[in-house]
Amino acid sequence: MVWRGTLIGDIMKKDFTKKVYDICREDAELCIACGRCSAVCPFSDLMDVKPHQIIHMVRIGDESVVDTNAIWYCVSCLACTQRCPREINITAIIEALRLINLRKRKDAIELRGVRELEALPTIALVGAGRKYTG
Ligand code: SF4
Ligand code: SF4
Repeated sequence: MVWRGTLIGDIMKKDFTKKVYDICREDAELCIACGRCSAVCPFSDLMDVKPHQIIHMVRIGDESVVDTNAIWYCVSCLACTQRCPREINITAIIEALRLINLRKRKDAIELRGVRELEALPTIALVGAGRKYTG
């Protein structure tokens, strides 16, 4: 088990880094920038910033990470999380970033604009609504 920080460590976190930590209880500051998460991510090629860069942005408190397309390309497959040598749940951090974005009332998709909506499986629509709209 990887050490998960101290109260002093929590107090010293940057505002945005702490906000993410408070949502998912995962500490991006444990990252050693090995890049393994990006190497195994099946959607890395489509992402404007790669998973290890997402974690880096969270570490330095760069809030613009919530405006990247990468957090929406993540399909929560857990491949990155399973291989992280620091046992960081990267998937949970990305989920927290989506949540922060959605709390700003910025929907990632407009469901009414989806073509042939009625032909899609209900479960897919509910899932998309939960994941992509606030
Ligand atoms: S696999 Fe873990 S330690 Fe390596 S870059 Fe990704 S988050 Fe950081
Ligand atoms: S959980 Fe997301 S970031 Fe991690 S490997 Fe899967 S798609 Fe990539």
